Amino acid sequence: MENRRLELIKADITTLDVDAIVNAANTTLLGGGGVDGAIHRAAGPDLLEECKSLNGCPTGQAKITGGYNLKARHIIHTVGPVWSGGMHNEHALLASCYQTVMALAEKNNLSTVAIPCISTGIYGFPQEEAAKIAINETTRFLQKNKLPQKVIFVVFSDESYKIYWKLLDQ
Ligand code: ADP
Repeated sequence: MENRRLELIKADITTLDVDAIVNAANTTLLGGGGVDGAIHRAAGPDLLEECKSLNGCPTGQAKITGGYNLKARHIIHTVGPVWSGGMHNEHALLASCYQTVMALAEKNNLSTVAIPCISTGIYGFPQEEAAKIAINETTRFLQKNKLPQKVIFVVFSDESYKIYWKLLDQ
């Protein structure tokens, strides 16, 4: 991979020892299914207590909390768009997720950030289109900023791995 600040791994994101993992949350920030549920289970109940104080998060935005029982020091919660055909601003909202996540990481002096495939699970965003947005927005941010020093795309299936690998290899 040419850009050494980008990495791709297949892993359970809750296990990673990084400055921040990113959560694909919902607007309540009070937990849910998929990666959100896994992160809350692994981080423990104190995460929910902090999340309650944040008053939710709009779609396309992000908020940061502690990592609690995770190895990761922080969690950046972002709310991806629910896919509803592609004519409801989904692409711009997903791009905004990656932009706000990166900006929060930079503002908090974070070096290493691990990020799952936002919106591609329960929220139904087509995987390849989502991966293109993830890679484009992240690359664009890294070109302009020294931090985060490294961004790790964390996939959960062989299919997602192949999609990211193909795009990153180009
Ligand atoms: P969304 O509601 O934004 O679609 P999901 O959690 O349903 O969020 O899915 C987002 C992505 O996270 C999917 O690609 C899913 O396979 C992946 N995923 C689910 N659990 C984990 C996990 N523990 N670690 C990394 N990725 C995960």
